[in-house]
Amino acid sequence: MNQNMQTRTYIIILLIGLLVTGCSQQLHQQQFYVFGTLVGISIWGVPEKQANEAINTIANDFQIMHYSFHAWKPGALSDLNQAISTGQVWTVTELALLPVLEQATHFYHQSNGLFNPAVGQLINLWGFHDDDLSNTRQSPSPEKIAKLIALAPSMDDIEIQGNQIYSRNRAVQLDFGAFAKGYAADLAIAKLHQLGIHNAIVNAGGNLKATGKKGDNPWLIGIRHPNGEYVLAAVAIRGEESMITSGNYERFREYNGKRYSHIIDPRTGMPVQGFTSVTIIDQNGALADAASTALTVAGLENWHRIAQQMGIKYVMLVDEEGTVYVNPAMAERVQFQPEKKPKIIITEPL
Ligand code: AMP
Ligand code: MG
Repeated sequence: MNQNMQTRTYIIILLIGLLVTGCSQQLHQQQFYVFGTLVGISIWGVPEKQANEAINTIANDFQIMHYSFHAWKPGALSDLNQAISTGQVWTVTELALLPVLEQATHFYHQSNGLFNPAVGQLINLWGFHDDDLSNTRQSPSPEKIAKLIALAPSMDDIEIQGNQIYSRNRAVQLDFGAFAKGYAADLAIAKLHQLGIHNAIVNAGGNLKATGKKGDNPWLIGIRHPNGEYVLAAVAIRGEESMITSGNYERFREYNGKRYSHIIDPRTGMPVQGFTSVTIIDQNGALADAASTALTVAGLENWHRIAQQMGIKYVMLVDEEGTVYVNPAMAERVQFQPEKKPKIIITEPL
């Protein structure tokens, strides 16, 4: 290499270095542990102090929500569940719980009860009210499952009058695990806007909401393969959207050497089989999260109808063989890794 070429190479390296440094000053990222998962926040284009203060605010909000809405640890929701199981009227002290109940009931109806946060007892019976799923235990008895199914706990059993809550059915136990992260992401993005931040991602363990852009480029989000080993596809976010994935690779238990998913079919009381992951994009994170769970329960035969009923426009589903189903609007948006392209089936439009 002659002197001239060397100088040019140095200048190019220096320029790239400056560009990278410039970018990293714009992007602020932090992670913290809450909701039993790693939450990551990325903020673009504001001073570091403003970004850090905002991230601390969100982390604090999430900690409060974590305890208020936890399905099995002490807090407002477990107090409410305790009152329901003993047939008491409960006076809401945590007002934030009311809109959660209202939205949960709405999604329960929209999904024909496939998203049913009243089945906490079934979820507990299958051993999912536990942080550690590796310990061995007996599989639930078919009699216990049948008994709970006969009692048919549903969101329609709950009556709310002012700040008083009562359930006609003592078998109701609320578990908001299927939509709490999407709901929390909605609140976090709304809070960031209030704090003057309009370009950000809030990612709660693969359940995320993004707003704005990363400089001139859209936020590009990866969707993990259900086997957890690599990024299956990527999607560019348009404006403000949530992208939520339900996957039975995240939480499962083994009984007699067989894997059982943490998503339970409220009609049978059995963990679902069929789809290993369901990804939804929607502007409403709570809806996308509820729908990701509902479509997993609906399975290959019924997901399309339930998605339409819930007003979902972008869906990607992966079955146990790794076949990917996408509706045409989603197919236009997902970019698969060329060297790892799966078998893809384009479905009827939604
Ligand atoms: P997700 O990862 O969003 O699909 O949520 C799964 C979690 O939702 C589980 O860990 C349970 O706490 C809860 N859950 C399981 N099955 C259902 C269901 N059919 N309806 C509502 N919540 C459910
Ligand atoms: Mg969900």
